[in-house]
Amino acid sequence: MLTSKQPNLESLTSINADGSRYFLHPADVRGRFTLFRRLFGVLLLAIYVLLPWIPIGGHPAVFLDLASRRFHFFGLTFLAQDLWIGFFLLTGLGFSLFYVTALFGRLWCGWACPYTVFLEHLYRRIERIVDGDSTARRRLADASWTSAKVVRRIVKHGLYILVSLLIAHVFLSYFVSLTRLYEFMKQSPRHHVGVFGVMLFLTGCLYFSFAWFREQFCIILCPYGRIQSALTDDDTVIIGYDRNRGEPRGKKSDPDAGDCIACSRCVHVCPTGIDIRNGLQLECIGCAGCIDACDEVMDKVGRPRGLIRYDSLNGLEQKRRRIWRPRVALYTGLLALGATVMGLFLSGLHSATMEIVRMPGQPYYFAENLIRNQYRVHLVTKRHEETSFTFEVAGLPEGAIVTGLDDLVLTAEKESVQTFIVQVPAAHFKGTFSIELTSTVGPSGEKLVDRIDFLGPSPYLLSNP
Ligand code: SF4
Ligand code: SF4
Repeated sequence: MLTSKQPNLESLTSINADGSRYFLHPADVRGRFTLFRRLFGVLLLAIYVLLPWIPIGGHPAVFLDLASRRFHFFGLTFLAQDLWIGFFLLTGLGFSLFYVTALFGRLWCGWACPYTVFLEHLYRRIERIVDGDSTARRRLADASWTSAKVVRRIVKHGLYILVSLLIAHVFLSYFVSLTRLYEFMKQSPRHHVGVFGVMLFLTGCLYFSFAWFREQFCIILCPYGRIQSALTDDDTVIIGYDRNRGEPRGKKSDPDAGDCIACSRCVHVCPTGIDIRNGLQLECIGCAGCIDACDEVMDKVGRPRGLIRYDSLNGLEQKRRRIWRPRVALYTGLLALGATVMGLFLSGLHSATMEIVRMPGQPYYFAENLIRNQYRVHLVTKRHEETSFTFEVAGLPEGAIVTGLDDLVLTAEKESVQTFIVQVPAAHFKGTFSIELTSTVGPSGEKLVDRIDFLGPSPYLLSNP
């Protein structure tokens, strides 16, 4: 019953010697970490589902509107040309993960990773309800195909597919908005083949991952698990077994034995099928299941909790524990630097963007002692209401005339392209110079500024025709 394979450090429990899959059936576990983890998982699931529903500034809290290349995050709107800020966002997230890993190991994996959240708090829950506890599941898996087994399999996999469909729809709503998704759902798939295809593909991936692939993703595919050993050290808080206290293992009645009674409960509850008593291993996702399992056992045998616990390797060896160390200082510095730079850029974000470009074709025209440059000004407003724009050109020499640059009003989240001309008398042209266009956004009074060169013939040629 339960995990009949004994985990070792030479091979993966979930893969047999012939390469076939050994399906794990982790046992149920109760305890304070399991409870907090479950509550936290429910909170995260609620956040994932509700973000596309909560309106902030006229848009869902998170809406990645690929069709119009506008990305809405908690009231901030980014256009495609603002996406360089994503670099800071991604590196910031990366350094945050480094930081958390250096301090607390794979806390992210066990508690907050969406993969773990979906697997542990949705799919495994369904399996537990339909197939029963780990003993019942293993017995059912080993049993021959009876009508009862077929019915259970149909119900379980039907629910898996239903949940996968729901998650795929929630995921899509981040990109197409709930309103449009609802419209799509009311129409025949023929009218939106692409979106329908993405939804089916996602559903298939989710079903495959959570019905069958499961912990293999964390063990084999996830790159974060691979690099964790480079991010942690002997002072990182991990989940570990207190070898000094637990060894030698033996019966409770054995006076020479340590505190571990060799019940293997910590192995049976492990979702990745490892024995934490063999030390920290790549497969450990930091779910804390073995802590709760062992604490329960210690309570029963009347020994202190914490034989398996959150501690650093130094702490488990009764050496001095250190939180502040060079790598933590480095990650803190990088995180603070990234947050400051991103904060500065975000505070400089405008509610509209303006860009001047030169009209294609000749760089300038020269006729009747006038030099003429033609430009296009591209304006995009991110505001959800009507926005007015007034213009002012600076840096012009005496006698210069600007035509075609009219004040304008843009409706919500629209853009406009205006062509305007700057003419400078040849007598006042002393070589290439820069003009500065300022647009005042009403009613906020924000200033958008862009510069572009005014080109003309060489002043030498002008004075020596
Ligand atoms: S649950 Fe605790 S007592 Fe039981 S085998 Fe694991 S470490 Fe030993
Ligand atoms: S060893 Fe413990 S913390 Fe690590 S995955 Fe297994 S049960 Fe979770």
